[in-house]
Amino acid sequence: MKDSNFLKEHNAKSLWHPMAHPGDSLANPPAIITSAQGVKITDIDGHEVVDAVGGLWNVNLGFSCQPVKDAIAAQLDVLPYYSTFRGTTNDQVIQLAEELRKFFAPDGLTRAFFTSGGSDSVETALRLARQYHKIRGEEGRIKFLSLKKGYHGTHMGGASVNGNANFRTQYEPLLPGCHHIPAPYTYRNPFNETDPERLAQLCLQALEDEIAFQGAGTIAAFIMEPVLGAGGVIPPHKSFMPGVREICSKHGILLIADEVITAFGRTGSWSGSRHWGVQPDMMATAKAITNGYFPFGAVMIADHMTEVFEKDTTGKAAIGHGYTYSGHPVGAAAALACLAETLRLNVPENAAARGTQIHQGLLALQQKYALIGDVRGGHGLMCALELVADRTTKAAVDKKTIGRLQEVAYEAGAMVRVSGPNIILSPPLILSEAEAATILSALDAGFTAVS
Ligand code: PMP
Repeated sequence: MKDSNFLKEHNAKSLWHPMAHPGDSLANPPAIITSAQGVKITDIDGHEVVDAVGGLWNVNLGFSCQPVKDAIAAQLDVLPYYSTFRGTTNDQVIQLAEELRKFFAPDGLTRAFFTSGGSDSVETALRLARQYHKIRGEEGRIKFLSLKKGYHGTHMGGASVNGNANFRTQYEPLLPGCHHIPAPYTYRNPFNETDPERLAQLCLQALEDEIAFQGAGTIAAFIMEPVLGAGGVIPPHKSFMPGVREICSKHGILLIADEVITAFGRTGSWSGSRHWGVQPDMMATAKAITNGYFPFGAVMIADHMTEVFEKDTTGKAAIGHGYTYSGHPVGAAAALACLAETLRLNVPENAAARGTQIHQGLLALQQKYALIGDVRGGHGLMCALELVADRTTKAAVDKKTIGRLQEVAYEAGAMVRVSGPNIILSPPLILSEAEAATILSALDAGFTAVS
């Protein structure tokens, strides 16, 4: 392998990174990760740390999941690729669809449409929502509603329903007809409401108001993450998603659960929708479906929708949408192995236990460090700390402090993710008690250094 300086220089010269300023790569070179085992990653200087990011919320089963590696290698030998566009299919994708049908049966979802990742899955769900209404003759239902602070990927449709200006402003104009309501974000919200249950009711009322304002007959779907992830890990009160379900049903609006992060155990339940006891009309998944080892995703579709599509005799239900890699046999083989491992290891149980441990540890850190304004978690292995310069005014902490904290935590044994004022933790779901303790002690060291 080339030496570290050569690679850093050529990284800056030759490639642009997602979600980064292209002019920044030389001054702030990214860590070059060269190998990984279990829940640990090693950089080019040989420094090994616990990956509290979990790849990018996707490596739920860790980096050494042999059955998935074997399935990928075996499938590459037999059938490395063939398309699933009309006319051809493959054995792996058929078996996977069947397994997913069983896995998501409690969520009321019975058909799969395959994609190559989360943004593709969101785009697919948005398109199918519009098509569903058109087949039924409700041509006017074209708009989408979503939550401020929600994240739904990077395609034009997903970016249009995203609720964070960082991912929108430079790319406008986005899709017309996308409108946002306040998220049930207790630490900061336009109602100055600090009680999560009352806040959930206020946000639900805002949804009702927006529907009345737009006209229910113009709205195709409402899309939300069961626990908002990239927006800073925002778990809504337990009444929120069931309330959204009720309002959507009342107005003939489809509910799309964006479970790109939350499906397959992250919240401590098998899916985020099940966590809240809700059956969505569609569910967008990706990420952990292949443990991050192969780009892949799936949209799961509810029975009442599949009936409308499958019984259509007008031709309107023909799906004019799909990806070259929809139903990729290697991805499908990887996903089959992941699903089997996810079930065998009962990962939600460990996610819940380790999630509680980390959440309690973060609350203890908040007692120690005034920089920690808000601690969010308690729903499996997705937690966040929101840093503030001043707890009373809630003024955001400066970038330098949070950057330094991240560096020290890395030196002390954990890779953590910084997103705006938030430190986000989403480690693999197979994390041990000792590894969870390492993440907490590394953060403690980081806070000591900057406090
Ligand atoms: N939806 C959600 C909720 C996500 O968190 C993400 C990615 N973090 C996406 C969609 C987009 O997925 P991808 O990056 O795989 O396109």
